[in-house]
Amino acid sequence: MTDTPPHSEPARAEPAHAFGFETRQLHAGQRPDPNTGARAVPIFQTTSYVFEDPESAAAYFNLQEYGNTYSRIMNPTVAVFEERVANLEGGAGAVAFASGIAAQAAALFTLLQPGDHVVCSTALYGGTVNQLKHMLRKMSVELTWVDPDDPQAWRRAVRPDTKAFFAETIGNPGGNVLDIETVAAIAHEHELPLIVDNTFATPYLCRPIEWGADIVVHSATKFLGGHGTSIGGVVVEAGTFNWSNGRFPVVAEPSPAYHGLRFHETFGTYGYLMKLRAETLRDLGAALAPLNAFLFLQGLETLSLRMQRHVANARAVAEFLAAHPLASNVTYPGLPESRYQPLVAKYLPLGAGAVFSFDCAGGRAGGQDLIRGVTLWSHLANVGDAKSLIIHPASTTHRQLGDDELRAAGVGPGTVRLSVGLESVEDLIWDLRQAFALVAATAVSA
Ligand SMILES: *Cc1c(COP(=O)(O)O)cnc(C)c1O
Repeated sequence: MTDTPPHSEPARAEPAHAFGFETRQLHAGQRPDPNTGARAVPIFQTTSYVFEDPESAAAYFNLQEYGNTYSRIMNPTVAVFEERVANLEGGAGAVAFASGIAAQAAALFTLLQPGDHVVCSTALYGGTVNQLKHMLRKMSVELTWVDPDDPQAWRRAVRPDTKAFFAETIGNPGGNVLDIETVAAIAHEHELPLIVDNTFATPYLCRPIEWGADIVVHSATKFLGGHGTSIGGVVVEAGTFNWSNGRFPVVAEPSPAYHGLRFHETFGTYGYLMKLRAETLRDLGAALAPLNAFLFLQGLETLSLRMQRHVANARAVAEFLAAHPLASNVTYPGLPESRYQPLVAKYLPLGAGAVFSFDCAGGRAGGQDLIRGVTLWSHLANVGDAKSLIIHPASTTHRQLGDDELRAAGVGPGTVRLSVGLESVEDLIWDLRQAFALVAATAVSA
């Protein structure tokens, strides 16, 4: 993808020029609007599109020609966002969704049938665990959970009815860095696709497709948007997986949901993506709104700059915590003492993201005191905002669990999760330092 021009024009006589990431985050998938000259991507706030004549309308609905029909399936503003993310990830194409959770559901839904089996990492975003556990069970899909750090565990979990591997580039809450190349190779030994949630790394820090992943999913809600204003998601496919290998009749065989179309045979590289859009998005209906696509595009324009600052701030905060007597078990994989250092050097050379956790002294009460003490960090359940965020899982997201159950989920009673933002890092550290003083005062008096 890097040797194609950002405006997808046919190649001219000049030698191919590879545009850099920073250029593509500003230009890929868009040229100034030919009708108005508008430089910014216009917000096409329309549900539907006038057809030229009955024949072209029929060709669109037969998928013989690619054209706008209805904004539940495609929209020109959303299309720029899709092309831009596909370009930055190095994929063949992308389909956007109303949320990250919808994107993951659609990515799996498109390739699964009742009775299938999926192997997934245990170190996943909490909302993903709920979705996989409960929604997939309703679809009669079985799961095997594996330690993402153990390649042999992935291999052992494969069954004849397995259809995919699912993991995150940087897992939650332990900061597990996935050995993408090794896990992708094991998936491919069994002719299975590896699906990677790249939300925490973004394509600036890691491009899983370059290491063998077949499908990348994102919650655009987080770092891609970066402003904490919009919910959205996107699925990118590499376009190289052989869906006609006998394991995926839903993608390769005639589709009853699309008048007998064979998606992989008909569209080749774009077979999975076409099915994802023309069937799954059509039938699940979780379409991204054009205004939100526009807002995500504003975020993407500065992705590299923001991620540089996110990782620099995260590293400084992690170092402060690693040296603080009231903090322990700092899970930032970018710290020199992290067991993930070799994988960080290979997959995340520009930085290990900006989300991690640590254990505050004093258990539940200590964690709660720290939250009470901070004034600049926002206490809320999100990550990837330009603003710094903090949460105490034992009294919020994991509130119903006892101490033993918390431990099983990799969360201690005093565990605090941070998403380090773009503020002056001295202020972030100042705020934590004075909140620790409150923890120390209560711990001593208790
Ligand atoms: C937030 C998040 C999701 C879910 O995305 P939504 O946009 O909230 O639906 C999935 N994976 C990861 C890693 C996330 O952080």
